[in-house]
Amino acid sequence: MTNYDYDLFVIGAGSGGVRAARMAAALGVRVGIAENRYLGGTCVNVGCVPKKLFVYAAHFHDDFAAAKGFGWSVGEPQFDWATLRQQKNQEIERLQGIYGNLLSNSGVTVYDGQAQLLDAHSVQIGDQKLTAERILIATGGWPVIPDIPGKEHIVSSNDMFALEALPKRLVIVGGGYIAVEFAGIMNGLGVETTLCCRGDKLLRGFDDDIRDFVAQEMRKKGITILLDSHIEAIHKSAGGYQLITDSKQILVADLVLYATGRSPNTAGLGLEAVGVATTDIGAIKINADYQTNIPSIYALGDVTHHISLTPVATAEAMALVNQLYTDKRTPVDYDNIPTAVFCQPNVGTVGLTEAEARKRFADDVVVYKSVFTPMKHTLSGLGEKTLMKMLVQGSTDKVLGIHMVGADAGEIIQGMAVAIRAGATKAVFDSTIGIHPTAAEEFVTMRTAVK
Ligand code: FAD
Ligand code: NDP
Repeated sequence: MTNYDYDLFVIGAGSGGVRAARMAAALGVRVGIAENRYLGGTCVNVGCVPKKLFVYAAHFHDDFAAAKGFGWSVGEPQFDWATLRQQKNQEIERLQGIYGNLLSNSGVTVYDGQAQLLDAHSVQIGDQKLTAERILIATGGWPVIPDIPGKEHIVSSNDMFALEALPKRLVIVGGGYIAVEFAGIMNGLGVETTLCCRGDKLLRGFDDDIRDFVAQEMRKKGITILLDSHIEAIHKSAGGYQLITDSKQILVADLVLYATGRSPNTAGLGLEAVGVATTDIGAIKINADYQTNIPSIYALGDVTHHISLTPVATAEAMALVNQLYTDKRTPVDYDNIPTAVFCQPNVGTVGLTEAEARKRFADDVVVYKSVFTPMKHTLSGLGEKTLMKMLVQGSTDKVLGIHMVGADAGEIIQGMAVAIRAGATKAVFDSTIGIHPTAAEEFVTMRTAVK
């Protein structure tokens, strides 16, 4: 029998890697983990957590504006970016400490450095060589910046969390999660924000009504949205940057953020040397058990470029640990994964879009839709509207998809996701007593189908 240093060696201490490492260690598995940048990975350091803190900060803009309608008079609000950045940094440091403690308290040995595969059972970190029965790659993703003239002037979402000062004018290129969220954040913090999207709608993959509605609400809040617009080049100019679009429009900015997707983070991992197979975009290829073509090497999370969300990475980690080290299987069900985009107002969604439902069930789809002014905004003066939409299979009455743009959509849709997973029918929704007065009660009172 071979004596390895570890039973499991994890590369990358982000959402998936940390969960796998500490859960395996809790089962008595001998685990080592390497991290070359920051404990907690993308989510804690340059993703979900600091982003959501910024979203809260941005929302005060609307809250101050709304206060007047409720009888409050507040002076001219002042915002200090350095304070927010410092407060955010302090919270991230606290979380990094918690991650470190979680790992060490569960008996995981943490290596601070870049890990490289040497062969099917060994890795190198600095001048240390370690062996393991199994190796798990959980190295996440990294922002992709397209190769265009002037790309050296572009910043990525990583940089947005450490800006020395806020720009006066920001152009964001992209129309996905990060572009839409940062447009809301920066606009809320007082930055003149233009969003430039190459598609004819924002948020590809979401329900079309949601995509139109969110753009409409974002525009109401002062964000300029350019659709069907490509940037051909970026030039430095006296006062900032000029972006030239394919229609020869010139956009001016003090900062240019590209949020044009993320690619698997595998640079320097040594995949080629060991023969780990990757897809044409560099994602690590795995089977349903997260195993690569090298039987002792596994991969999960963003590096596999499947569904890049923290709860998916952690669920995959649990599934892998249970499969390898226990007699219970907890496979991840990739259907009906709920998700939110934290723009203002939020998008929350679970299940099929109308286009997907019609593709699958043709005319057997009943659509319920409601657009209304939520109670808060009857007095706020902000004119913000909410959209709620539900898709039902006519023949079975089963709810296929629930979509929302409105305050706290992320919070509301989490509960809806449980109902959808439980196979709830429209009749179950209809017989559920609402909580009054809330926006969410609309989901149990929608009675008239859209023609
Ligand atoms: P990561 O968390 O990226 O962890 C990978 C780790 O591996 C990193 O710490 C990296 O430094 C380390 N590493 C890489 N290579 C090596 C190496 N060779 N040696 C040692 N260490 C290495 N998801 C949500 O669900 N909700 C959100 O609100 C949300 N917001 C986001 C906002 C932004 C701006 C971004 C960028 C992402 C957001 N995400 C969100 C996505 C989420 O952050 C990722 O899906 C999640 O972090 C993936 O986890 P992971 O374990 O696969 O990788
Ligand atoms: P997305 O894949 O969500 O969006 C990328 C956007 O950039 C799309 O609009 C895409 O257009 C556009 N694009 C791609 N290439 C180019 C190009 N060369 N020029 C112009 N536009 C381009 O990626 P993000 O970077 O926004 O986020 C990465 C992932 O991180 C998300 O998919 C999500 O999984 C996760 N995330 C989750 C969050 C959450 O849960 N709230 C928040 C932030 C990130 P097209 O649609 O035409 O391809």
